[in-house]
Order: sequence, then structure tokens, then C-alpha cells
Amino acid sequence: MNSRRYLGVFSVLLFLAAPLFAQAFRVGTASAAPGEKSTGTLEVPTGVDAATSIPVVIVNGAKPGKVLALVSGAHGTEYVSTVILVPLINIQSFEQKVPHVNPVDNKSMNRFYPGKADGTQTERASYLITKEIVDRCDYLIDYHGGDLDESLRPYAYWGPTGREAQDRTSKEMVLAFGLDHIIIWRERPTDPAATRYLDNTASVRGKPSIVVEAGHAGTVESDDVALLVNGTLSTMRALKMLPGEPRTIENPVWIEKLVDVLADGPGIWYPLVKRGAYVSAGMKLGTITDYVGKVIAEPRAPVSAVVLHVNAVPSLKKGDNIADLGVPAAKAP
Ligand SMILES: [Zn+2]
Repeated sequence: MNSRRYLGVFSVLLFLAAPLFAQAFRVGTASAAPGEKSTGTLEVPTGVDAATSIPVVIVNGAKPGKVLALVSGAHGTEYVSTVILVPLINIQSFEQKVPHVNPVDNKSMNRFYPGKADGTQTERASYLITKEIVDRCDYLIDYHGGDLDESLRPYAYWGPTGREAQDRTSKEMVLAFGLDHIIIWRERPTDPAATRYLDNTASVRGKPSIVVEAGHAGTVESDDVALLVNGTLSTMRALKMLPGEPRTIENPVWIEKLVDVLADGPGIWYPLVKRGAYVSAGMKLGTITDYVGKVIAEPRAPVSAVVLHVNAVPSLKKGDNIADLGVPAAKAP
């Protein structure tokens, strides 16, 4: 942290490039002079629904350097992601313990980027984060973890853009972060006006970015926290924002395809597999019964894959994700 500033918005920390003259770096109401730290909020104004305030922290390095945005809590019940500066985009989700969406407008806070100034609360917050964080950082890391209903093994996403220099940097970031399963996320929107995901919003704007996930089903376990904290420090070393060498992983499992197994209808879920298990095509993942115990489905793995996450709770409704399976790539990208 010697040569950068860093700024956290709610779930965003930025390491900011110092201008040529010494002046405060501002994001929302936070303002930090070189060598200082400041907290504040991004004020999402009232629109068609209520206003909201997103916490921001800026740590401004004493010397000039790049800006890193660390953003988390888009899904407010993915608690591990909030370990860094207790950052949290989706406050209503956190407070009301509602997974996946912002209960104010029932929208995921990682699906509506770059947002809209005149949209619902999620869209207005996304708009502000795009302007205040994405547009002003050089690199971005979006932190997630298994949501309340997701028993998830840790993994990262790397989204190559086809721009060689940028992809080299984002790959260096994801390898330095060190999570041992990495999803190659190729098919994503390229229109800057419809980027959908936060990291993709940064990528499309030329900023190397990655997504990391560790944590599961509402627990905050020290091994998951350590993965995120150590991964962040190692990535900052790779970006030359901290002294020392990164702990770059040498042979991760690259995942080239994701297969979601979805529920046909409501029922009670009895899993037979745990997060992180490797399953063969055709293997039974669990049993679904009706409310008096009659077996109504026995979902099976359609492919041989690793169980990235599996439904962590007994309840299922139509369309719910029973399991998310990752198919390992034949060779590293
Ligand atoms: Zn999430």
C-alpha cells in the first residue's frame, strides 16, 4: 500500500493513481489526501423508488500509482465477500437476509450494469458505481461467495476480451489471486451500454478485472476469508501496488463450460453430493420429494464435472439452481 491510494465503495476499494499535484481523491462523500484514508458514501438519489447510501473507503497512497477497485456485496447475503472493509453494495439484501436480489426492486445487483440514472434503485446504484468507481479505476476485483442457498467451493472467473495486453494482465491477476479453479468466461456482452455484470463493465472499458468467489451458505469461515484476503494481497503484489512477490498458482483447474441443473418444480431437496465433488455424467446428485415424502425427481449430472455449488437448503421452487457444474478444460488457455 506504499504507492497507491485505495478506495472502497461499499464493496469497493480503489487504489488510486495520484495526480501530478498532491490533491485529495474523492469518491462520493469520501475524500482522502495523499497518504490518507477516508470513508464516506455514494449517495444514490431518490427516483422511482427509495434512495440508498453505499459505503465507500478510499486509501490514497503517498506516492503516484494506479487505482484498484475492490467491490463486493452485490449480493448482500454473500457474507465472506464483505470481509474487506465490510463493503456492501446491496444493503437491503444484507439487512433483510434476502439472497440474490435487492428486495427494493427485486433485481440482482450484478445484472444491470452499466445502470440507468432514471431506473429503479439497483439501476441507479449500478449507474453511480459505473461512473464513480469503474470509470476511475485501472483494475477491478468483484468479490462474491456462495449465497444463502449455495454450498459453493471457491473459484474465480477470468473473462478474456480478445485484447491481448489487457487479457495478459487480467490473467496475471487471476493466477496471482490463487484460487485453484478458474472459470473461463468467454461469451459476454461487448456493448458498453449493456455490459450486465460489474467486472464485464470494467473489462469492456479496457480495465483488467476478475471475479472471485469464496464462502458458502451464509457462513463466514476463516479458510474462505483467508483465501480472499491473501488473494487480494498477492494480486496487489502482481500489480506492483505492494512490495514483494505474488503467490501465483501454477496449475489451476481451468473450467471451460458451466452446466446448471435446474428444478422442474417445487419440492424438498436431499443432496447426495457436496460442493467441490467431482461427478461423472449420469451420477445422481440427490433426490427431490413432495411434501409428504414421495420421490418426484432424481436429478443427475448431465456431464462429468466438478460441483461448483449445490443447493444448500431443503427448499426448491421451479427454476431454482440445484447444482452448478463446471467442466474442466482439456488444456490451459
Ligand atoms: Zn454473488
